[in-house]
Amino acid sequence: MAPTTAGPLTVSIRPARPCADNALLIEVQDLRLHPVPFDLRLAPETDAAELTAVPEVTGTLHFHGQATLAGEGLQLRGHLQGEIAPACSRCLEPIAMTVERDLDLLYQPESVLGESAEVEIHARDADVGFFSGPGVDVAEVAREQILLALPMQPLCRPDCRGLCTRCGANLNKGACSCAPQADERWNALKSLRKPAR
Ligand SMILES: [Zn+2]
Ligand SMILES: [Zn+2]
Repeated sequence: MAPTTAGPLTVSIRPARPCADNALLIEVQDLRLHPVPFDLRLAPETDAAELTAVPEVTGTLHFHGQATLAGEGLQLRGHLQGEIAPACSRCLEPIAMTVERDLDLLYQPESVLGESAEVEIHARDADVGFFSGPGVDVAEVAREQILLALPMQPLCRPDCRGLCTRCGANLNKGACSCAPQADERWNALKSLRKPAR
């Protein structure tokens, strides 16, 4: 493929097509000629190293779209889809969920920040990302966006009973053989009442 062809730049890293680290990088320079389509697929089985930052990813992470020139920087418009399984915040069991979202992201070179405080404030308001070097790593963007999509305190179900604080048993699977849990909490109440007596 000639370097000036406007065809899709496939930045998929799969065993069949090993490529250099920078193959996931979309360079601003390349966008001066034409927009660059991208199609990234990261699979936990084959791209474990790329996904170490997001162990919650359980299925293929797919990010495809198009990069266009935006001033000194670039704009990424695309669709992100991935299978994740964050741990329930109470019982720690993995919760299978699908992340699916349209993305419209703006990236400016860090050098823009140095120029004036006004630019900096404006840029931060507009939710702009920054990059140093020649461009933006699409895989890095996909990882960031998946991390942002992870729920803060996921629950496997609204009434998850969590783990027993003494034996660690998953109480969703049935009661454990520890004494009833009421005592500790009532003790706290009793100690509150004492001074008022
Ligand atoms: Zn749970
Ligand atoms: Zn227990």
